[in-house]
Amino acid sequence: MRRSLTVASVLVPLLLLVFFWLRPDYDPVLAIPLSHFYIVTFTSFAAAVVSFLLVIAIGSFAHRRHVLAAVSFAVMSSLFMVHGLTTPGALIPSDHPAVPAVTWSAWLTLFSGGIIFALAGFDGPEGPSRLLLRRIILVVGAGIMIYLSIVITIPQWLGAIEANAAPWHRRLLFFSTLAVWLLAALQMWRVWRATRHRIDGVLTLVAVWMIQGSISLHLFPVWNGSWWLYHFLLLAGFLFTAFVLFTGYEQSRRFSLIRYYVGASLIMTALLALAASYLFTRYAERTLGAAGDLSQMANTILEVRAVGLLIGAGTMGLLFAVLLVVVTRADRILTTRTRELAIAYRDLRRAEEMRDDLTHMIVHDLRTPLTAISASLSLLKRLPEGKRQEMQGRIVARTSRAAERLDSMIDDILMVAKFETGELHPSTERVQLADLLSEQLDPFRAQAVAEDKVLTIDCAPDIPVELDPVLTGRVLDNLVGNAFKYTEPGGHITVSAEAANGNLLLRVRDDGQGIPDDFKEYIFQKFSQVPADADGSRRKGAGLGLTFCRLVAEAHGGRIWVEDAPGGGSEFKLQLPAGLGQQLSSPE
Ligand code: ADP
Repeated sequence: MRRSLTVASVLVPLLLLVFFWLRPDYDPVLAIPLSHFYIVTFTSFAAAVVSFLLVIAIGSFAHRRHVLAAVSFAVMSSLFMVHGLTTPGALIPSDHPAVPAVTWSAWLTLFSGGIIFALAGFDGPEGPSRLLLRRIILVVGAGIMIYLSIVITIPQWLGAIEANAAPWHRRLLFFSTLAVWLLAALQMWRVWRATRHRIDGVLTLVAVWMIQGSISLHLFPVWNGSWWLYHFLLLAGFLFTAFVLFTGYEQSRRFSLIRYYVGASLIMTALLALAASYLFTRYAERTLGAAGDLSQMANTILEVRAVGLLIGAGTMGLLFAVLLVVVTRADRILTTRTRELAIAYRDLRRAEEMRDDLTHMIVHDLRTPLTAISASLSLLKRLPEGKRQEMQGRIVARTSRAAERLDSMIDDILMVAKFETGELHPSTERVQLADLLSEQLDPFRAQAVAEDKVLTIDCAPDIPVELDPVLTGRVLDNLVGNAFKYTEPGGHITVSAEAANGNLLLRVRDDGQGIPDDFKEYIFQKFSQVPADADGSRRKGAGLGLTFCRLVAEAHGGRIWVEDAPGGGSEFKLQLPAGLGQQLSSPE
């Protein structure tokens, strides 16, 4: 379907041209100079605005050939606008020296556009450098300006060229135009064959249309249907090019609101100015006609048309300029929000990735005690009857230790989650600190003996405190459990408590591996652990125990931190407001 449409879009204009060439009597004549002025001026102005904005929008990142295609249309529409503006009898009298610009700007339009298009076709994987591209754009811009200034200030030059040009000069220009568009089509087609890029395909088709446009412009009589054809081909070429470039690159999000606004308001201004100019002219024609003053009529109408154009452009331009302030602000807000959203999205993705990593880590950590349990049980099953009796005690002890570890890890995970969702609040009660310590630390005495470590508890017998005994008990459990975990056999673990200024200070000191300075704050964050030594000796939990301790401390309005213990190892300090005000005094 698409292929047949493409073929038709090439064949129909071609067949039309051949038909009109063979049967010129069927070639309709449509001489509408004034409509030509309004239509051409408006469409070429709109096309110039869109093309320039496209160049600005995609210039820094698009394929160079695509930028050049947009440049080509920017040039063609600018020159074609001169073609429209210099329509004889519209803004200038028919004998004005700038009138030759009408034909010259049409010829130059297709010729210069073809050169730029052909250049675009030479953009391979390496392509012309950005610098070259910038130079081309500069040269082209300067060319347009020079041509415009000739048309405005020394139009007689164009008149002189027109008067002195021999027919072969024009033929040369025609063949050169044809040649550059043929080259452009061929090159673009080659590029398209290599890339299969939709934009390259459309640009090839556009170049083919322009070959036909050049024939229509140069070889057929002005105002005939065959001559009007090049206008349509040029417009279709522009519309297709702009459309594919726009849709092809829109996802890169460089088409800011402000550019849409500038484009739309410029085009609207032109439309309204032309409409105003038309209405002014109609009014003047009627008034002058009624007054019967025909001698002055032609000049006055030209003036009125120009004045109408200026007034229309001025008022609309002013209105759009005021609105521009609003749009600029909206655009800035939109850009900032988009950027913020992009950053938030990136952070979210990062957090999600981290959570996945942590989930893997926790699952892995939970598996270790579970493996120990199932390995012990299957060993027990496989042992011969006599041996089983003998090993039973040891295996059961090992299994229950692993089960306890598993239990405490799951407890940590659940407790931290509950704190975070606000489900857990300390329920405080008055307790004797010494009782809490001795009850909570009792199981560790046996562990100390079993692991050949020395556990010392140093607490005055009468320190009443108000706290959540269950949560504080678990904090102690974690801190002392860690001290055991990270201390070698023969090591010392000391738990001491003191009260000062209404605060309770609990210390858990060991002479084990210690904690590097860089990690002293970090280990209180969720899942944080000091990186494993080469033998993996540090990775013995889920990295949640200290997070839990911090959350409990904070929930009581206190804090927890770690320092180096004098003589090596670490000392964890838990400070809690004891809730008993001045009743609490330091035990002497
Ligand atoms: P884990 O369950 O991994 O022990 P914690 O939150 O209790 O998690 O501890 C976090 C990390 O802090 C531990 O992995 C360990 O690297 C370090 N750590 C905690 N207590 C001690 C200690 N007494 N001595 C040395 N390092 C410790």
